[in-house]
Amino acid sequence: MWVYDLETLRFLEVNRSALTTYGYSREQFLQMRITDIRPAEELPRLRADLLAARPDRQRSGPWRHRTADGTAMDVVVTSHLVEWEGRPAALVVAEGMPRTVAASGQTSSSTPPAATGTAGLAPMAREVVARGITDRFPAVVMVVRCDHLDSCMAAIGVTGVYALREQLTQRIRRLLPAGSLMAAEGEDFWVVCPHVEDGRARRLAGQLVLEIPRPVDLPGVGEIVVSASVGVRIAGPGPKDADALLMEASVAMRVAAAQGGGRVVVFDPSVQRVAAARFVNEQALRQALRAGEFCVHYQPIVDLASGEVHGFEALLRWQRPGHGVVGPEYVIGAAEESGLIVPIGAWVLNRALADFRALQREAPNASVAVNLSPHQLRDRGLVGRLKAGCAKEQIDPRSICLELTETALVRVGADVSEYARLLALRDTGVSLAVDDFGTGYSALAYLKQLPIDIVKIDRSFVADVVGNSADMVLIDAVVRIAHALGLRVVGEGVETVDQALALHDLGVDLAQGYFFGRPVPLASVARVLKGGSRSRYLAQGA
Ligand code: C2E
Ligand code: CA
Ligand code: CA
Repeated sequence: MWVYDLETLRFLEVNRSALTTYGYSREQFLQMRITDIRPAEELPRLRADLLAARPDRQRSGPWRHRTADGTAMDVVVTSHLVEWEGRPAALVVAEGMPRTVAASGQTSSSTPPAATGTAGLAPMAREVVARGITDRFPAVVMVVRCDHLDSCMAAIGVTGVYALREQLTQRIRRLLPAGSLMAAEGEDFWVVCPHVEDGRARRLAGQLVLEIPRPVDLPGVGEIVVSASVGVRIAGPGPKDADALLMEASVAMRVAAAQGGGRVVVFDPSVQRVAAARFVNEQALRQALRAGEFCVHYQPIVDLASGEVHGFEALLRWQRPGHGVVGPEYVIGAAEESGLIVPIGAWVLNRALADFRALQREAPNASVAVNLSPHQLRDRGLVGRLKAGCAKEQIDPRSICLELTETALVRVGADVSEYARLLALRDTGVSLAVDDFGTGYSALAYLKQLPIDIVKIDRSFVADVVGNSADMVLIDAVVRIAHALGLRVVGEGVETVDQALALHDLGVDLAQGYFFGRPVPLASVARVLKGGSRSRYLAQGA
């Protein structure tokens, strides 16, 4: 038995039997969160469950837990919402169960959601769709999901997410035409609007995408901003299967989210094809990792003042048999959802360390940058593996840079143990970069608070830097603030010499982009560097 805090998910109290069963000391237990006793593959389900829990409900169900030595254990969990020293909390009773019962009783979290059907997934939504579409065609079925809900939940807690959901429900409802039906279920908002034709459905979805990111004021939290992905299925006349409509709206929503979120995707057969080809499931990723189908491409980062190669960014690629080279946009999301990002990320780091010497032969003193997913920061073994990897390859950790996105970093700032891990990483000597700067929360305060060395300005700002004075002003401001704090600035996505020159004029230190070199396999790095863009740049700059 234990009690955990509904907001922070930390254990508040635990009984002796749990200590012996899970293999932790009381002190250790009380330092952990409920996510720490789950295998990685249970985390998406846990997150959905926490969001789905009505605050007044008693709940029970089968789960898989993990003990201190990593052994998986199937349990039936019953939880009651309680107040613990004035805080909202849950009292949990976990009972072990025989393996065979667990196997049949548990919904598999490894099945891709698009293929699980909607029966167990969204009973209220099914009801709404079934009621909404009977003979009131044309109708539109929409599903709305907030982007980056993980980091949002870590930042504002589960009760914060409840409050956010309440407010978004009202906001969405106000936009809907009379006669519409809506269900908020788990992470999603389901909407059915009868008698709405194609054009109006698209406009409505567009409005949702624009309205949801207006700031929401949450009691005790303050203003927060979230974007959302909207999947749309327009249903013409003729018999319709509610489940199929829900599923197709959901597939469209996932395509929208995989394309970066904050957008609408309307379901059509091409969306289905994209989804089928690109939604990679956990099994496929596991298999790819085992079969050695992943590889790393390297892209040069160039010093704008000297034109010399400052370093290389390691970017994951998947040589998927029968599919060609699959980019990380289709891998990282699925890997994060399944928790496989931890072993895949560790693999990328090791690969980059192993390639380090060869890269330095192409560009002496070059550093190597590796992307780090926020999940990896929760991995207790990260710092140790990094140190061991550097020692094995005889690399000075100061030549390694780890890139974290702005959203991930803001979240880390709010979590004591992740923050401690970030400091420990930095203590090894590696440098840290904020990736995609300008696309996340864009709060500048954390630049000062977190141990960061480099700011990478997102390519969306760089794209218009020639001619668009608004972006120039922004980059100028970022450069000034970064330099005042002693940070270096990288401009990403530089595709033309004019962009490179403009960035240099604005004081940007380093640049990366197709102009200087595309990401290529290790064997092609030398060829890319001889390509001549750098000398053309230098000739024009002089
Ligand atoms: P990122 O970290 O912002 O990486 C830069 C992305 O911009 C790369 O896309 C790169 O190919 C692309 N790019 C570089 N120069 C240009 C340019 O001039 N124009 C344009 N349009 N694009 C350019 P890529 O390789 O598809 O990677 C996408 C994202 O996937 C990365 O964005 C990074 O967030 C993530 N990622 C890649 N590898 C890993 C990895 O090993 N681990 C983790 N956690 N994430 C990774
Ligand atoms: Ca990056
Ligand atoms: Ca980036």
